[in-house]
Amino acid sequence: MRRRNLSVVLGAVAGHGPLSRPRSRALSRADVAGRVGLTRAAVSSLVDELIGRGALVEGETASEGRVGRPGRALTVSDEGPAGLGLDIGVTHLGACVVDLRGEPRVWRRVERANADRPAGQVLAEAAALAADAEAEAAALGLRVDGRVLAVPGVVPNEPGGRIERAPNLGWHAVRIADHWPDPDTVPEPENEANLGALAEYWNAEQAVETFVHVSAGAGIGAALVIDGQLFRGARGFAGELGHLPVHPEGVRCACGARGCLEQYAGQVAVLREAGLAQHGRVRAADPVALLAERAGAGHLPTLRALEDAGRALGLALTSAVALIDPDGLVLGGTYAELAEWLLPSVRAELADRVTVRPWTPEALRPSALGRRGPVLGAAQRTIRRIMADPTLLPAG
Ligand SMILES: [Zn+2]
Repeated sequence: MRRRNLSVVLGAVAGHGPLSRPRSRALSRADVAGRVGLTRAAVSSLVDELIGRGALVEGETASEGRVGRPGRALTVSDEGPAGLGLDIGVTHLGACVVDLRGEPRVWRRVERANADRPAGQVLAEAAALAADAEAEAAALGLRVDGRVLAVPGVVPNEPGGRIERAPNLGWHAVRIADHWPDPDTVPEPENEANLGALAEYWNAEQAVETFVHVSAGAGIGAALVIDGQLFRGARGFAGELGHLPVHPEGVRCACGARGCLEQYAGQVAVLREAGLAQHGRVRAADPVALLAERAGAGHLPTLRALEDAGRALGLALTSAVALIDPDGLVLGGTYAELAEWLLPSVRAELADRVTVRPWTPEALRPSALGRRGPVLGAAQRTIRRIMADPTLLPAG
């Protein structure tokens, strides 16, 4: 009960802090009591504990325009508790530290060709990047309380931190702890599409409760958020949009099946169709930036490749819409940067094919977070857990 009340009080302060709503004033203890329906004495004891655990700070600002003794303003601390997010992609490593307000305070991203390198090597580099990010956070007065790693692979619903497979990295049955140099800082892995979707849900201006978040990188993943909850499937394998068939007799996919979406709307396929890849190889350090540059310059093969990719994507999303009846579809990851050229054909396809329920083109939109979504979601996941259970923080 006390745990729940701590969470309610912390949530009330977080929801009305100067950061979350720039024009709203911070709450005093009395204001919090009024909002959460607990006695002032009970709220004061809870606030004291949250201050002791480093979650809240009480400032000097008096609340204005109220009768009686003005209270001191409570705010969520921007020092102390923090979450670390890590991101291993096919062409990059990323790190992010957020404070308890969910605000990113440290960003790191390095370009790295990670495909087909030994998992141990990649994870050692990720651990070094994590240590750098934590050191930078410590200099800001932040202490990392949880670590989550975004990976472009399947993470089964089980304890132990195992990645079942990450085909675009060439990983099979990799247990993070077996390769992580420091046993005290082993991160918990989670599928990057899932974290991208959660980041969208937690940070978007117009978040809806039930949506499909497509997360494109080297491959195509998706995550389903249903009634505000991530839907992981019976085993954690849900959301493999990239392997939905869009051509029954189509080309063979790396997964072994035929005609998968990834073979028509994946990065390699688009680059090949645009004439920017020879034998599956691209020279550009950032192939997505290259696609955007060519499309922006009106390069016809690139425009046609993106239009075709959008059509295939629209076909796959039609199935998703029919199955789960979402309020929204979000194009995240690298698709966000290509949205200008993908959206028209995705929208046209959906408009033609979604017939059994109302559909508005606005329900499909690019993510505002783009490539940063998964690493931000990874970092914020720890903060969300603390907000739900502040006793996870060490007592002061
Ligand atoms: Zn496939």
